[in-house]
Amino acid sequence: MAVSKRIVLHFPRRLVEKPVICRLVKDYNLEFNILRASITADPEEEGLLVLELKGEQAEYDKGVNFLLKSGVKIQSLSQDVVRNEARCTHCGACITICPPGAFELDPRTRQVRFNDEKCVACGLCLKLCPPRAMEVHF
Ligand code: SF4
Ligand code: SF4
Repeated sequence: MAVSKRIVLHFPRRLVEKPVICRLVKDYNLEFNILRASITADPEEEGLLVLELKGEQAEYDKGVNFLLKSGVKIQSLSQDVVRNEARCTHCGACITICPPGAFELDPRTRQVRFNDEKCVACGLCLKLCPPRAMEVHF
């Protein structure tokens, strides 16, 4: 059975230069489509990749296993990051840390807009937001 899933890959610094994704194609016959790629500010982690990964279920499972064994952390995009509007104080602390730039300051209202379509569910803003306005929903 063929599967197609959207996942977020977190690459530790030591793997960024390695051809990990190429091996998914060569060794496991998987197709991928890069939806977003960015570098995080977290010193423990360097790369973040949002992928659509397609292939036969058995090969998909083996490919994911290979990624995990290599040290890549995998997160499903079914984890939705949402903002609790009642809690947000529009302090702006999240604007610079979000790798894909999902937050922006509206110069007119001085409020921080959250564009959830850009969010790759990396979780950085969850830890950083002072009033804990960012939440993850499964
Ligand atoms: S860090 Fe939290 S409170 Fe501050 S603007 Fe971002 S979501 Fe709102
Ligand atoms: S979880 Fe937060 S910091 Fe990470 S991409 Fe989404 S909005 Fe940006």
